[in-house]
Amino acid sequence: MTVALAVALTGAPAQAAAAPGAPGIGDPYFPDYGNGGYDVSHYDIRVRYHPGADVLTGTTTILARASQDLSSFNLDFALNVTSIKVNGWTATYARQGDHEVVVTAPRPISRNQFLTIVVQYEGVPSEVVAAGYTAWTKTSDGALAIGQPEIAWWWYPSNDHPRDKATHDISVLVPDGVEVLSNGVMPRAPRAEIPGWTRWSWRSTRPMASYLAFMAIGQYEIVTDTAPNGLPVINAYSENLAEYATSARASIERTSEVVEWAEGIFGPYPFEAMGGVAVAPSTIGFALENQTRSTYAAEFFRRGSDPYVVVHENAHQWFGDSVAVDTWQDIWLNEGFASYAEWLWSEYTGEGTADELFEFYYNLYPVTSSFWTVKPGDPGPPNIFHPAVYDRGAMAVHQIRLAMGDNAFFALLKAWTSARKDGNGNIAQLQALAEAISGRDLDAVFTTWLYTPTKPALGLAGAAAARSAGPTATRTEPKSFQKINAVHQELANKNW
Ligand SMILES: [Zn+2]
Repeated sequence: MTVALAVALTGAPAQAAAAPGAPGIGDPYFPDYGNGGYDVSHYDIRVRYHPGADVLTGTTTILARASQDLSSFNLDFALNVTSIKVNGWTATYARQGDHEVVVTAPRPISRNQFLTIVVQYEGVPSEVVAAGYTAWTKTSDGALAIGQPEIAWWWYPSNDHPRDKATHDISVLVPDGVEVLSNGVMPRAPRAEIPGWTRWSWRSTRPMASYLAFMAIGQYEIVTDTAPNGLPVINAYSENLAEYATSARASIERTSEVVEWAEGIFGPYPFEAMGGVAVAPSTIGFALENQTRSTYAAEFFRRGSDPYVVVHENAHQWFGDSVAVDTWQDIWLNEGFASYAEWLWSEYTGEGTADELFEFYYNLYPVTSSFWTVKPGDPGPPNIFHPAVYDRGAMAVHQIRLAMGDNAFFALLKAWTSARKDGNGNIAQLQALAEAISGRDLDAVFTTWLYTPTKPALGLAGAAAARSAGPTATRTEPKSFQKINAVHQELANKNW
């Protein structure tokens, strides 16, 4: 009742001329990513997938609300659309570029109107190129829909930007004997639907950015448990892990332990489930913090177990997933903090303190290295996964910690993840909160470590140098360094 009243009051007057929704949500790095004019609350994704043939057919129902009077609006999608209905009425649509579909409803859409958008589609995702590549990965036994920032284009139509989060129901029909992993929990067990085919249903009850929605389809062993905090743990291991199988398990089975440790630093775990998926060798070259269920390339475990990558991806559940970037320029809020979590784990496990890791990294890159020319706070679109975003990014977090003092810094971590849970944040907002909590002007340390394309001199950033006064001598390599460095070299593959 109150909802209908609100529509009547705010939707009717003025009757401003309906205009097309913007083809982008307003991200300076990726101007055509996401869309304007509406806000999505829920995706109901139902697809059928034929492994081998790599044929995907689907129907996605999008629940949204118009934020302006719309003559048309865009969806981000690359597969072939076969029909679109808006509130039950057949809409016309036209492709614009390789990942935009312009939808024109047969009736005018007014501001605040609720929209039910039903899109039917089909395609061979591995053959569809958009933005110059194919993020979809066809494997010998199925497929992986995993990527950042682009992946949704290859399997469901969306408002594809972290700023428009929504809940997701993901339902996948596959041949009997094939497993499907996705986000959240399974509200019902997989069940036979038609002869020879089984439907897997997954549900995410917390808002999720579209790039964090994923599918892993293939031959997997699924391991379920309950975490110390009472939440379900759902892990999965490709049956093709071969020599990586035991080290993958020895790492990913520590997820609930890592989450419990991280809760002590970042605050309560923000989602309804946790877990990880190890995919087969030579399929993806990275790990990704898919919401509630991170995915790991088998190669992370080639040297034996690696808790650091599990720490990194699970730290992202707070920094990146629950609190998502406002624009992709804010990527340091994800990677700097997830990398710094590895430093804290190193300190916790006695493999080198954060101070030692800072000094070692600082001295690792000479002043002439191009590493220092990439600004973590504004790396530029081609460099959002540059090693500087991770390593200088973690160094920046450490300098902010030194400038704030430990009590204020650890209070900041919990205050940020609590205040912006299920939302978004940008670097300026983090700086403002850090200054409010510490009572200090932190402009010098943020500018020096995030926005200056040269190697910062120690001792010149005011309070930042309090505990690291003067130039540092090269120290002994911390025990954790090789593992942390290997993780970051793999992670920097993400999109290249
Ligand atoms: Zn990361």
